[in-house]
Amino acid sequence: MPSEKAKENKALVVSCAACKKSVPTESAVALTGIEDGRRHQFVVCVPCANGGWRPPGFAGIYNPRPV
Ligand SMILES: [Zn+2]
Repeated sequence: MPSEKAKENKALVVSCAACKKSVPTESAVALTGIEDGRRHQFVVCVPCANGGWRPPGFAGIYNPRPV
């Protein structure tokens, strides 16, 4: 059954680093890149990540997720 926590998560939105849209956290992924010489988490929406957007300095692996 849907938990209270799931409802809370739906209410949380983040701003996509690539397209600047506000998306629910559940539709976003954090990719680690480099900004100003430091590791930095870039939060992007799944469509952008699936479309190939990667932060500068990204050295990890991203497995596309269903939107
Ligand atoms: Zn996006």
